[in-house]
Amino acid sequence: MATVTYDKATRVYPGGDKPAVDALDLQIEDGEFLVLVGPSGCGKTTSLRMLAGLEDVNSGRILIGDRDVTNEAPKDRDIAMVFQNYALYPHMSVADNMGFALKIAGVEKSEIRKRVEEAAKILDLEQYLERKPKALSGGQRQRVAMGRAIVRQPQVFLMDEPLSNLDAKLRVQTRTQIASLQRRLGITTVYVTHDQVEAMTMGDRVAVLKDGLLQQCDTPRRMYDHPDNVFVAGFIGSPAMNLLDSQLTDGGVSLGDSVLPIERSLLGATKNSTVTIGVRPEDLKVDPTGAGLPVTVEVVEELGADAYIYGSTPTGGADKPIIARVDGRRPPQKGETVHLIPEVGHVHLFDKTSGERLGA
Ligand code: ATP
Repeated sequence: MATVTYDKATRVYPGGDKPAVDALDLQIEDGEFLVLVGPSGCGKTTSLRMLAGLEDVNSGRILIGDRDVTNEAPKDRDIAMVFQNYALYPHMSVADNMGFALKIAGVEKSEIRKRVEEAAKILDLEQYLERKPKALSGGQRQRVAMGRAIVRQPQVFLMDEPLSNLDAKLRVQTRTQIASLQRRLGITTVYVTHDQVEAMTMGDRVAVLKDGLLQQCDTPRRMYDHPDNVFVAGFIGSPAMNLLDSQLTDGGVSLGDSVLPIERSLLGATKNSTVTIGVRPEDLKVDPTGAGLPVTVEVVEELGADAYIYGSTPTGGADKPIIARVDGRRPPQKGETVHLIPEVGHVHLFDKTSGERLGA
């Protein structure tokens, strides 16, 4: 087991005009499950491949434990990767697939058998060891791919969207299995996904990337409650946080016809007369007195206990979309206008220009 350190690690692809990964600084603890998440093209896979040694590091360093591996060959790094396309050898049995890397490394047959059996036990694959991959379900094949990584007893697991070939239900099951397996084995893991729900449910910490730049690295709870900028605020959470531009007025920010009181000290850093306010759908409440944001309900999504209303509110001469969670037993009707007011203490404020969080 080991820590992993990205120290200003940068990758510029040949011909690229800007870095795919730009001065990435990350310290991953021994045994930690760290998830790299972000939209397509943000540099997740490149970051993982740099750690694997499959991509050059143009500046900065990568360390595994105290060892600078920046220029080490992939095979010397003591890592094991699980890919999206887990590409099992079709002509080999499950046991041979799982033990193949050890065979190549010259590990003794009896030792290979022992490790394969141990991994099969952990992964509930014991009864399939002699089968060929084509006689397995998608989920079982995925577990064989995990087994292949486990038998190598690496210092670090690297996983690149390992669940994306599975259907939605299996994906949910398998993500729980991987997360609990990782905790049991205690092997430092870096996991790439574009799915923020996967990131939030699996990671000890989540690192959000955008355009090759690290935006925030935090526990899922902290990331949700305290996004450092507008991008993270909008990216983490489903349905997404409502983000609205709002005028600063005496004592607060204007919201429809009312003023939302905000402590002046929170706004200290901004020079603009407009701020971006962020409120999660569950933190908007219907106000029976008609104060707050007037929202015309366009769609009501009933989920049983809760319902989400999707509507719009007029701000700055245009209609802005708004989502709010409401009581599933008494949802407003489509076409109705409701007034929504944020819960005190659950309003996020961001600088309009930089997008950075204002206040604590
Ligand atoms: P996705 O979720 O779509 O897989 P990602 O976040 O993993 O995306 P990367 O694959 O790391 O993103 O790509 C980061 C950037 O680097 C993108 O702009 C991509 O076009 C570029 N890129 C990736 N691989 C290469 C390459 N081999 N040569 C040149 N540019 C590349």
